Amino acid sequence: MSSRILTLSAIGAVASIAAATVLPMSQGDGQTPDGAEPTPVVGSLDPDGAPALVGSDGRPARADRPAPSTGPVLATPEARRAAVDAGVDLRSVRASGDGGWITEGDVAAFIAAQPRLPVRPRGGVAPVVAAPPRNAQDPRPTVKPEPASQDPWMLGDLHVHVSPPDEPGHSTLTVAKAIQSARRGGLDFVILTPHQADRSFPASPLTGGNPMNGQELVERLAEQHLGGASPDGSARDLVVVAGWEYTREAPGHLGVSFVDLASISSAYGDMKTEKALAAGAFVVINHPFFRPVKSDLAIMRLVSGDRRWKPFSGVGEDAGLWNAIEVWHDRSVWIEKLHAKSGERFPDTQMVQQALASWDVATLTEQRRITAVGGSDAHGRLPYTVAPMPVVSVRVETRDKEGLRRALIGARVTFGRGGGIAARDFAATSDVAGEEAGIGDSIRAKSEVRLRWKGSAVLIENGMRVGTFENGVTRELDTPGGFAFWRIEKSGDAYSNMIYANLPPR
Ligand SMILES: [Zn+2]
Ligand SMILES: [Zn+2]
Repeated sequence: MSSRILTLSAIGAVASIAAATVLPMSQGDGQTPDGAEPTPVVGSLDPDGAPALVGSDGRPARADRPAPSTGPVLATPEARRAAVDAGVDLRSVRASGDGGWITEGDVAAFIAAQPRLPVRPRGGVAPVVAAPPRNAQDPRPTVKPEPASQDPWMLGDLHVHVSPPDEPGHSTLTVAKAIQSARRGGLDFVILTPHQADRSFPASPLTGGNPMNGQELVERLAEQHLGGASPDGSARDLVVVAGWEYTREAPGHLGVSFVDLASISSAYGDMKTEKALAAGAFVVINHPFFRPVKSDLAIMRLVSGDRRWKPFSGVGEDAGLWNAIEVWHDRSVWIEKLHAKSGERFPDTQMVQQALASWDVATLTEQRRITAVGGSDAHGRLPYTVAPMPVVSVRVETRDKEGLRRALIGARVTFGRGGGIAARDFAATSDVAGEEAGIGDSIRAKSEVRLRWKGSAVLIENGMRVGTFENGVTRELDTPGGFAFWRIEKSGDAYSNMIYANLPPR
């Protein structure tokens, strides 16, 4: 890896990376920054985050709890199934069971009382309204919900910490709060990534004495706050994916999602990245250039701690074992902006620029599709981002988990402030008849590719900044039929992923 970096440092844009990667590595214990915490440690087991438990006999394990008007919903498995089948939000259902539990009969009664089934039209999915039930004894809707013409773009956040299963000191966001914030922020999806060190969640009040896999816990909690459709995420206003941030000081932090985490790691959480990729996971190098900030500003001491991805620094053996890079990392962006005017004083904090350059270099050398993404790294408190936020937009074929996974791996993504949506219109045609490409696609071309977009954009070609163009430009390939890639950056911090020419099949 280091020799590859050295070879490529001949490219001007990259030389600064090699020179900038020699800072000493600090100690560190996961994600918590060195020094004092900015806020007191907050216990995370608030009622909003507590799951409803079902004992081995299928009966509610905590039947003495009254049903709260907000937060978790206590409901029997039969009631949940009935609610999912009928598209009913359990929070709207009045409970009649002991201790405030919602029964299957309660769901049926609720449906019978509705002139129309409740829906949450949003995110480009046409409102789905089922016909009223024929009578109270037969609550099945007579019209099957069917998504109509769909918006191909979904707005989301790939990097959000929730506790549990994150340790209470790591995040003050519960699953419930994260979902609530994501909805409020207009997101279509959110990937929850508690630190891998907290994969198991042995606290007895939540697990009934059994260690519960953190992924399973997140999925279970999320189900309570979503409701209305199937767990694959289809036809929901918000798709929630339970992943993790694989947290090691060497080689660094990896965001991993769309995979059964227990199947790719040991009981102690040691992950095999090869296994994750083989299983179809989306593996992101998180905050690849986040590093200690030397500063006399007190606030800067809070964000110290080396979080660089070591292979990019010439250390480690995980070259190629990932399919994405987190370029737009909220704290990196924040520090970069803070230091932008410092001149030579803080020259080593251009983390977004370095991540962009590394992405270009890796694509050029490995000639493979690498997705660039954004993540808020929300922990619910300063100096982290407080809540999930729109940082990526993803062009999907289906608005569910599998659609998202395929689109993310396919690099059909824009990123940046607000999800980089201004860069969505990047597209191409070529001198091969009928060939067309959007973001993330490879186009067959002999010697010419016509790139287009609306308005003004900076064009990057094979890692080099070509210039600023209006509404597009035609480019010639260096080698006829050869590999090339382009991406655009628009004002307002909107970045496209790449369009490739003649990307080699893998
Ligand atoms: Zn991290
Ligand atoms: Zn993180």
